[in-house]
This record gives sequence, structure tokens and C-alpha cells, in this order.
Amino acid sequence: MNYLQYYPVDVVNGEGTRCTLFVAGCEHQCKGCYNQKSWSFCAGVPFDQAMEDQILADLKDTRIKRQGLSLSGGDPLHPKNLTALLPLVQRIKHECPDKDIWLWTGYRLQELNAEQQTFLAYVDVLIDGKFIQQLADPKLLWRGSSNQVIYHLKA
Ligand code: SF4
Repeated sequence: MNYLQYYPVDVVNGEGTRCTLFVAGCEHQCKGCYNQKSWSFCAGVPFDQAMEDQILADLKDTRIKRQGLSLSGGDPLHPKNLTALLPLVQRIKHECPDKDIWLWTGYRLQELNAEQQTFLAYVDVLIDGKFIQQLADPKLLWRGSSNQVIYHLKA
């Protein structure tokens, strides 16, 4: 898996102060996508063990307390990205059980396959659905268009 960007301190992608990882690769091709460069699975740089260790270290950093990790893209739930992200989210829930994981995907919750649903066991908040330009609304919190739904999966 490749990733496009990693923000060790982020206050705009989810609740509280967070770490955010933007993975590469998305098949949804939404019209008006904010970042078409993220569609390619070859964009960005490889996600390696050092990056995984860095995210864990940032989440454990007591100087700047993070509420959790946000996974965006691209699409973290694309089957090609799931395999690489699974050890990361498992490790977070094992080593930092008090941290939450937010995830943005272009798939709808109702259409996830078995593998994607299994991954959701590690996700606290899911924002689902493609970006639909006609339904775009800048006033929406955490979403680009009103068709997208915020699911608090652990509430
Ligand atoms: S799901 Fe997100 S990244 Fe993928 S095309 Fe749609 S807006 Fe772009």
C-alpha cells in the first residue's frame, strides 16, 4: 500500500486532536473529487514498518495528546489497502485501546463485503458513501455531501 500524506497532528479530520493518514488508491471516481491524484494506487510513497511505528509513537505521545487516528484517502477500505491497514489498526487497538479510529470510505456501509465488514471491528466512526457534487454542502461536519452518513459504530 502507498500513502499520500501523514499528519501527526490534525484537528480538522474528525473529533479532537488526531493523527491522520491519507492512503493512495480509490476506484469510485466521484465527480468533483477533492483530490484525483489519490485515485492511483501508485501515488505517494510505500507504507512501511517505520511509518506504522511512527503512528503508534505519535498516538502514545503524552506531550500532545491525540484522541485517535483518522484514515482517509483514497479509500482505506479498498481491498488492496485493507490488508496493509489491518496490522496497523489491530496494533492500535491492542497497544492504545483508549484511542479511536475514524475512517472515510466511498463504499456504502450496506454494500461492504465480508472482509471490509470484518475490518470495521476496529473502526469507531465510519463516514460512508461517494462524494456527490449535487449534494455537496460546505456546512456539513466531517462530510462533503449530504448522502454520506456518519456511523458511530461503537456507540
Ligand atoms: S471516494 Fe473520495 S477519494 Fe475516492 S473518488 Fe470519491 S471523493 Fe475522491
